[in-house]
Amino acid sequence: MSKENYNAYKNAQAQFDSVAKKIGLDEAICDLLRQPLREYHFSIPVKMDDGTSKVFRGYRIQHNDARGPAKGGIRFHPDETVDTIRALSMWMTWKCAVVDIPLGGGKGGVVCDPRVLSEREQEQICRGYVRQLARNVGPIQDVPAPDVMTNAKHMLWMLDEYEAIHGAKYPGFITGKPVGMGGSLGRTEATGYGVIFVLREALKELAIDITKTTAAIQGFGNVAQYAAELYTKLGGKVIAVSCWDNNDKTAYTYKKLDGIDVDVLMSITDRFGCIDKDKARELGYEILPGDAWLEQDVDILIPAALENQITAENVNKISSQVKVIAEAANGPTTPDADKVLNERKVFVIPDFLANAGGVTCSYFEQVQCNMNYYWEKDEVMQKLDTKMTAAFKAVYDLAVNKEFNMRDAAYVISINRVAEAVKKRGWL
Ligand code: NAD
Repeated sequence: MSKENYNAYKNAQAQFDSVAKKIGLDEAICDLLRQPLREYHFSIPVKMDDGTSKVFRGYRIQHNDARGPAKGGIRFHPDETVDTIRALSMWMTWKCAVVDIPLGGGKGGVVCDPRVLSEREQEQICRGYVRQLARNVGPIQDVPAPDVMTNAKHMLWMLDEYEAIHGAKYPGFITGKPVGMGGSLGRTEATGYGVIFVLREALKELAIDITKTTAAIQGFGNVAQYAAELYTKLGGKVIAVSCWDNNDKTAYTYKKLDGIDVDVLMSITDRFGCIDKDKARELGYEILPGDAWLEQDVDILIPAALENQITAENVNKISSQVKVIAEAANGPTTPDADKVLNERKVFVIPDFLANAGGVTCSYFEQVQCNMNYYWEKDEVMQKLDTKMTAAFKAVYDLAVNKEFNMRDAAYVISINRVAEAVKKRGWL
């Protein structure tokens, strides 16, 4: 599958169909789960700063809510497509189910580019988005969160609009809020740390000493930075990271064979996860093409940037030394590349298990909001480790007992949990 004709929704459905067939899932349940339950497509009119008016397209897709309110981020991106949001909403259902939290799957987006919009214009989009959806989202219906190019500031504007419409305080309506305004300590680290909690467990099972391992990471944004930090703390050595350079409009890989210093590298990285090339060169980093992260002789690869990165075209460039791939990004591996990795017996920790730390912490945020009582960071991290470790063990045990790969095992657990909820509710 080439990068040009990649469709995340088709990928998500292909993964689902293959597992549904393996477990002989009832046809009606297949029909229900291979597409979203509900979709909202709407327009958001905005008066721009220059006096003109513009209309932005917004979407909210609720894939499934049989296990609890739908949960998932809202992306702002100029190239956002309905199919990407559909796929991501579906992956959210499996993600919440695999870590066994009482939430379903949803996702939203607005076709816009916040990089060229003023603060006021972004605020109008946030408020307009909520006005269109105020009756269809909420703490007991569908709980949004930040995603690509949205952050805590956008979440607070959305919360404020929601509360103004409903005339009461609903801090559990949205997660990813700033700490002190209903946010949870540890949310910033949660996804990256979660990746390493499951990687740690995988290495234990594979009898690999983490202190003797090396890794290469694609991306150096929020997830990659905290994954690199914890992995290094546990004794591993990251020898390469890649990131997108917005000036040169291309990606580069930054390599240091004696291991990157995460704090130093973070100090020369901007808020979009872009490393300063000149400063990196001064620090002794070798600067290689963007794809080079995947070709390194390392034990572990962590794609933590985008979907559709390990493909049929480049999968054979992965070194035979690579034993584990921890998919921190959503959908980084295409199904045909996945097949090759399976044949090569590479241990792949699938995305919706590996990166579930974020939504698990968002769930903790909602719990704390509902109690109006906030935990210390250590308590959040301890609970996160417990949840991620338990989820990994359940998936690993099933994989070993039934001779499934980890992705199929994770899908089987998630699909069975959601199918059971659907049946118990009497939907089918
Ligand atoms: P981010 O925007 O903070 O960082 C993204 C990084 O990827 C940046 O360093 C960017 O330069 C890099 N990048 C972009 N294009 C690239 C390319 N072509 N080659 C190499 N690097 C490239 O994003 P993030 O929050 O760290 O999210 C990363 C991935 O993890 C995404 O797939 C996201 O959907 C997924 N994810 C994030 C969370 C979360 O809590 N942040 C939770 C679950 C899944």
